Amino acid sequence: MPGGRTAQVAAAARAMHAEGLVSGAAGNVSARGGGGAMLITPTRTPYPELTPAHVVTVTFTGDPIEGEGLPSSESLLHGAIYAARPDVRAIVHAHPIYASALAARREPIPAFMDEQVIHLGGAVEVSAYAPAASDALAANAVRALGQRRAVLLANHGTVTVGSDPADALEMTRLTERLARIWIIASSGASARRLPDDVAAAETELYLMRQQAEHA
Ligand SMILES: [Zn+2]
Repeated sequence: MPGGRTAQVAAAARAMHAEGLVSGAAGNVSARGGGGAMLITPTRTPYPELTPAHVVTVTFTGDPIEGEGLPSSESLLHGAIYAARPDVRAIVHAHPIYASALAARREPIPAFMDEQVIHLGGAVEVSAYAPAASDALAANAVRALGQRRAVLLANHGTVTVGSDPADALEMTRLTERLARIWIIASSGASARRLPDDVAAAETELYLMRQQAEHA
């Protein structure tokens, strides 16, 4: 029900801020609505004050349908992902410290941990740089995300997707955790990648679970 989804969006957004995955009013959370609509956090509302009533319903191109607030400036980014990925039900965009550090280096997180491939679908790639809130940013992010569940935006932050806002937020936590491990593991001694056959088998498992969830 729509009321439930707006509450889920608001709860994930407050948790994202409370956990330090963004500062100020940065970042945004959305859920897919019915009929080409999405429910997205408003721009400039302080997260501790955010309630389900602040969540705005807009089209995939950010045109308002319902709600009084101004939709997030990154509505195009969210809409482009929903349009390209019918399986995606929710999206979280955040600025976590370690993942953003890799985004600033424009360094992907290669497939190097088992839980990464199983939950995220493989490497976390970096999208080509484009200014915040631009059409190009949205197109580049869709391309770099592919069929996986996380992507780094060059010099900016992260985007993760999931089956609901809580799941998409969990993928942000996992991406930040992997970024921390990658930075630690690759400083000094170099970390080893998963064997190719193991990564391929885990990718199969990921795709099977994805199909089962959206059957
Ligand atoms: Zn941002």
